[in-house]
This record gives sequence, structure tokens and C-alpha cells, in this order.
Amino acid sequence: MLPEPRIYVPEPGEDVVRIRTSERSLFKRCRRLWGWLSPVRLGLQVREAPDYFWYGTGFHFAMEDFHGYNRYGHAGKAFLAYVEACKQSNQLPSTWRDFEPLGLGMLSYYSDHWLRNRDVKQTLYVDGKPQVEVNASIDLGLRDHKGRRVVYDFTIDRVVMDDEGLLWVVEYKTAKAFRLYHFDLDEQITSYSWCGQILYGRPIAGTIYMQFKKAVPVFPRILASGEISVDKSQHTTAALYSRLMVDMYGSVQQSPSKNITALNRLVAEDTEDQDRFIMRTNIERNSAQIKSLQQRIYMELEDILNPDLPLYPHPQQSCGYSCPLMHACLAMEDGSDYVDALQPYAAKGTSREQEMRWRTQLPPPELVQLPQEALLYSQTTQESVAQLQQRQESPEELFLAELS
Ligand code: SF4
Repeated sequence: MLPEPRIYVPEPGEDVVRIRTSERSLFKRCRRLWGWLSPVRLGLQVREAPDYFWYGTGFHFAMEDFHGYNRYGHAGKAFLAYVEACKQSNQLPSTWRDFEPLGLGMLSYYSDHWLRNRDVKQTLYVDGKPQVEVNASIDLGLRDHKGRRVVYDFTIDRVVMDDEGLLWVVEYKTAKAFRLYHFDLDEQITSYSWCGQILYGRPIAGTIYMQFKKAVPVFPRILASGEISVDKSQHTTAALYSRLMVDMYGSVQQSPSKNITALNRLVAEDTEDQDRFIMRTNIERNSAQIKSLQQRIYMELEDILNPDLPLYPHPQQSCGYSCPLMHACLAMEDGSDYVDALQPYAAKGTSREQEMRWRTQLPPPELVQLPQEALLYSQTTQESVAQLQQRQESPEELFLAELS
């Protein structure tokens, strides 16, 4: 019989053992790496956190603001506020200038274009608070060998309610490409349903998994011949493609048939839940799946909390490009001083408060302005959408396009 998990209300000064889904994944990936990085063990932190972590934090903050109190009135502006706050708190990575236009472009596209013709989904409010960036912990009803309480920490990006009154957790991911085949067994997705139902005391229908490609839609290329490219891999949208056709040929109908075909292909890709840049997938989890996850968590904890557990390595092909502490691992293998090898790459972990100190430096909304280019981009994408919507495709046009 498993203990009944319930929401943990922190007690002042209480020292607890914190477990997260990411920690469980790391544990199952490689016990040696977990032993170095987990707060349950050595609790080291990689010295040079990858810059995409920094970017992901800013992206999530912008979405939190936009779908929450919306203090900045625009997701792109909220991202700029994050960059400014990181400047003030000395938390900018050296590559921030590459990420700033990317964040601004992706978020402007989302708020000014993608959402305009789609169901926005209403953020859930509890006691007047929007349920965005929800941080909470579950008391698992366990104690470790030192008698400390064991809690399960989680962060939910957003909670929405659908038209039937069902709750859904919304998860944001930014990546180079969409991932499609991991949904059924994804532990993080199932854990959101488990954590959410304990937090809100009611079932969670599932997770709305939102993937954002790390790319900003632009106009299609113009070839040296003066024609509009029909390359299928271009980072463009139907609205921008048709806009350029109208600008160059006077109307879509007067454009070359190969361009009409390319446009129709883009239009067909544009559905209620996705286009080339953003994909929204509803993933349900039933009570059996949630129960199975809970049982698995308690089984894994028997190992995670065992102070005598052997921490053997798990060498894999991916070690070479994905393990931040491979140097130390190799030193351990060849008998050299691995503690020495750890020094340049890892240090004692900092507190969450220190990591989040940029939040205390956020500028007031009136001091954050979108650059002219961003305003122009938003205006152009919005006009292009309106133009595309006015366009009525004749059966003849579609037939000709098919033939070509
Ligand atoms: S290199 Fe591979 S085996 Fe060694 S610690 Fe890293 S993940 Fe584990």
C-alpha cells in the first residue's frame, strides 16, 4: 500500500529531500552522472550551463507573462525585459546577441500571428492568480535514512480550462525540429497529470504539448532569375508567401502556377493546431497510466534514497556529445584524479533564489519598447494574414496548380 501523496506546505527551516522528474530521468540515464549532479548526492552544478537553458528560461518567462498578468502587453516585449534583467543581474551568456532576435521573432510570430486565428485557450485562475509557472511540491509520505521528508517538486508552465470545463496542463518546448514519437511513454507528460490532479484536487485531462521551432518565419527567397523560390524547406508561411506573390505579380491568380502550387502546399500545412513553426498536440492520460507512474516513482525512490546504492556508469554513444562531465568520468576509468578533473567543469550548486535573481531586475513595462523592425514585422505578418484570408481560391486555380 503506497502512502497518500498530498501537497507539501513548507515548514520554516525544514530540510527536505527534493526529487523532480528530471532527476529521475538523470538517475535512469547514468547513476555516476546522477551521483555528481543530484542534490540528493554531491549536488554539483555544471559551471558553464548551456546557453539554450538561458534562452529557454527567457522564452518561458515571456509566455508566463503573456498568458498571465500580461504586464508587458506583448510576448516579445516580455522577452526583451528578461534580457535587460539578465544584463542588470550579470546573468547573460556570451551568445545572448544571437538569441535576442530569435526570441523576439519567435514570440512576436506567436502572439501577433499564430494565435490570431486559433483558439487561445483560457488560463485557469485560482484565488485571482493566473496558473502560469506554477511551482509546488508533493509530500510523498516518505523519509530518507536521515529522517528528512521526501518531496516531489514540479513546475507547470500553464493550466487552461477547455469548453467542457476540463483542466489541461500546457507545456512549452523550443527545439530545432518537432518531436512526434515520444508522447505515449513520456514520463514528464504523465507526471504533469499526476501532480496537477493532486494540486487542484480534480482530474487533469492531459497535456497540451506546444512545440516551437527555433526559427523565425520570413518572406520566401527570390532567386537570381527574379522568381519566387518554391523550395519546400524555406522558413516561410502561407501568408508571407502569398503577400510576396501579390507584391510581385499583382495577385495570386496572376502568379506563375508553380508558385500557386507552393502556396497551396503551405496553406494545406496550416491547421488549427499547427503550421511549420508551432505545433500544439493534446495528449491524454488515463487513471491507469497515472497510477502506474505513481507506483514507478515509489519503486525508483527505493534506489534513489538508498545511501549504499552502487553508482556505476552507463557508457552510451551519446556520452561524447551530451555528458557535461565526461572528462571526470574518463579520469575515473583510467585511474587518474577524477576529483581534479571535476573542478573545471562543476562547482557546488547555487540556490534557486540565486539562479532567479534576474527576476528582481525586471524593468517596468513603459521602459521596454519593441524595435522598429519588430513592429514592421508584426504589421507585415498581420496584413499578410488578412490578405490571405480574403483570397478565395477558384476550383480552376486549384486544378491548374495540381496539373503543374
Ligand atoms: S560519460 Fe557517460 S558513463 Fe560517464 S558519467 Fe557521463 S553519462 Fe555516465
